[in-house]
Amino acid sequence: MRVPAEARVDLDAIGDNIGLLRDRAGGAEVMAMVKAEAYGHGLVEAAGAALAGGASWLGVAKLAEALRLRAAGITVRTLACIGVPGEPYADAIARDVDLTVGATWLLDEIVRAAEQAGRPARIHLKADTGMSRGGARGRDWEALVDAALKAEAEGHVRVAGVMSHFACADEPGHPSIAAQLDAFTGMLGYAEKTGARFEVRHIANSAAALTLPEARFDLVRPGIAAYGLTPVPAAGTFGLRPAMTLVAAAALVKRVPAGSGVSYGHTYHTERDTTLAVVPAGYGDGIPRHGSNLLQVLAGGRRRTIAGRVCMDQFVIDLGGDTLAAGDEVVLFGPGDRGEPTAQEWAEALGTISYEIVTRIGSRVPRTYPAGRR
Ligand SMILES: *Cc1c(COP(=O)(O)O)cnc(C)c1O
Repeated sequence: MRVPAEARVDLDAIGDNIGLLRDRAGGAEVMAMVKAEAYGHGLVEAAGAALAGGASWLGVAKLAEALRLRAAGITVRTLACIGVPGEPYADAIARDVDLTVGATWLLDEIVRAAEQAGRPARIHLKADTGMSRGGARGRDWEALVDAALKAEAEGHVRVAGVMSHFACADEPGHPSIAAQLDAFTGMLGYAEKTGARFEVRHIANSAAALTLPEARFDLVRPGIAAYGLTPVPAAGTFGLRPAMTLVAAAALVKRVPAGSGVSYGHTYHTERDTTLAVVPAGYGDGIPRHGSNLLQVLAGGRRRTIAGRVCMDQFVIDLGGDTLAAGDEVVLFGPGDRGEPTAQEWAEALGTISYEIVTRIGSRVPRTYPAGRR
């Protein structure tokens, strides 16, 4: 290693995970969600791997992410999910980005942008079926559908899709799941009755794609599962393979006497004469400071708990009677094959979800893509 810390991304694993999701999608298309730098794995590289694995759409949260995919030469159908007033919608339309519309102000803005771009915008109407986040519900839904169909008749938009999002799909059997599915069927029924001819109807995130066949419709939108992390920890791994391995090189290894206070605040004291190693990854790299004295890493073939506080750029581990050399690899998390913790394990220790663990790995940590099979 020639850098203090790096995130190695197994692009074949992403391709294989997409293949598994596609096999389980029962004929529905797969939109790989690559928002937030593909959950920390690298937007453009992960998108390429997902397409190689059989995804036929890409999904992002923000317009700038979609425009970056286009700038990288990726022309596959791409849906941007979140917009605020004043964004460059005309650019998005000119670059053939599908836009999510959950409010009439946005529809109005997109109609003006389509006129500017000189071509119709492709839009997906977002129904709030019970998450109470994005999308329209009740009368607002009907008004949105009516306005979108009018804009379509006038040639400003093509109403390509209808979509929604689950609040609790990661808790199979949660009563809100069936309620949201019912609401979705009713809301898309209203739109179809009013004249909408959707190309794709979609509601399933990873959890629903893997556990809820009736939620697949025409397209599923997996995110976390594409990166090999389970969307339903209680149900196991579904055969997914984690794509990210976070490693660091030991920066310094030294002997210290018993009773040495370690790192800020001296929240850890060595019990006996021991060997400490400094690991150059800290909260500035996305290692949660709440992981102080809590998270484990693999070093010298064994699990070690972070000793004392996680600092901005580094943390310390206590090797006990073992030793390491400066430059030796420390594995923070990975697929677990070599005995290292998984991102899921870190998430459980911290009381969060694996999504946050991989997504928050900072831009200071280079992503590397070891040569794979493809
Ligand atoms: C992030 C996101 C997904 C993917 O969710 P996962 O739980 O990671 O599968 C699907 N749809 C939308 C609209 C999203 O924002």
